Amino acid sequence: MKVCGYAAQQPKTPLSQFEFERREPRDFDVVIDIQYCGICHSDIHQVNNEWEGANAFFPMVPGHEITGIVSDIGAKVTRYKKGNKVAVGCMVDSCRKCNPCINSLEQYCVGGGPVLTYNDEENIDGKKITTHGGYSNKIVVDENYVLSVPEGLPLDKAAPLLCAGITLYSPLMHWKAGPGKKVAIIGLGGLGHMGVKIAHALGAEVTVLSHSLKKQEDAKRLGADKFYATSDPRIFHTLAGYFDIIINTVSVNLDSNKYLSMLTLDGAMVLVGIPENQMQFAAPILVGSRRSIAGSSIGGIKETQEMLDFCQKNNITCDIEKISIDKVNEAYKRVLNSDVKYRFVIDITNSLKCNNK
Ligand code: NAP
Ligand code: ZN
Ligand code: ZN
Repeated sequence: MKVCGYAAQQPKTPLSQFEFERREPRDFDVVIDIQYCGICHSDIHQVNNEWEGANAFFPMVPGHEITGIVSDIGAKVTRYKKGNKVAVGCMVDSCRKCNPCINSLEQYCVGGGPVLTYNDEENIDGKKITTHGGYSNKIVVDENYVLSVPEGLPLDKAAPLLCAGITLYSPLMHWKAGPGKKVAIIGLGGLGHMGVKIAHALGAEVTVLSHSLKKQEDAKRLGADKFYATSDPRIFHTLAGYFDIIINTVSVNLDSNKYLSMLTLDGAMVLVGIPENQMQFAAPILVGSRRSIAGSSIGGIKETQEMLDFCQKNNITCDIEKISIDKVNEAYKRVLNSDVKYRFVIDITNSLKCNNK
């Protein structure tokens, strides 16, 4: 079927309107009329082709925080029907056979890796087809990789849960954030603000470590108990050995040693931000207090559904700035300046005009 979206034709070029084709639904496919798509910092990293070893596919239609309505289904689909409110996150398939896949950890698939929603290739009837994401009017996805949006969650404010929400929910659950635990979130951006809301709802003490004092009031409103500007070197002394869990959401390299020193005995710093360059840290800082440094990638499909249900029960949505799709290039610049409160969401329905509708 003919669809349209916004694409970067080459690395580091502005996005512009692009017509392309998606497959007709196969037996287990769901066709989704996209209503909203969030802008993740990963979209910018990938459009700029700046991750080490990256070999990005262009033209690239980014977008992996997708919500919309089912408009058609394949003959054997059982999980969804026309009119359902649904969502798609960062993956549209995986091998389904390896240990991580069997254990609902498709994001760590070792049978070729998960098929990412865009900037990847999927195998369709023996042919490799480039995947294109949610800055577009329709997407076709196997029902097993589609999420159900619970009643009561608005599709615009729920869209960023599909990446920002699950990327913080998963490590907070894995490292057992909850009552009695001290959690720090470094960087109050799209991911960070979801981390504050979720960790607060889990009952942890939440501290935001931000690079300036500008977001202090917002952080408290979002549920943070404490707030520190990392531009003040004294805080690293005040908070030495304090946190059980530090989640680093920052998109550029920080001095890891200073932050690792803030962990208590057995504390863990979990990286979710993916800076362009390699990181460095000093072994004695880990060894001296049995600290660990770890990483975490989005969440599996089952856990993503669990996160959506958790957000509905706890009345959690994202703080968004809704924009029309022609403002996407401007929005990228503002994200790079940490100037968004706290996620841009593209209003696809009301701003993307396709000639081929
Ligand atoms: P974002 O909205 O741009 O937030 C990043 C935050 O980092 C900013 O708001 C800012 O917070 C801080 N920051 C930015 N530049 C900084 C600088 N020069 N010095 C110090 N702090 C700075 O980005 P996002 O969408 O949340 O994504 C964050 C990172 O996570 C990206 O690298 C993205 O690719 C990655 N990511 C990873 C996963 C995963 O599965 N692991 C999933 C999604 C995204 P303050 O103003 O509070 O300091
Ligand atoms: Zn993302
Ligand atoms: Zn697998």
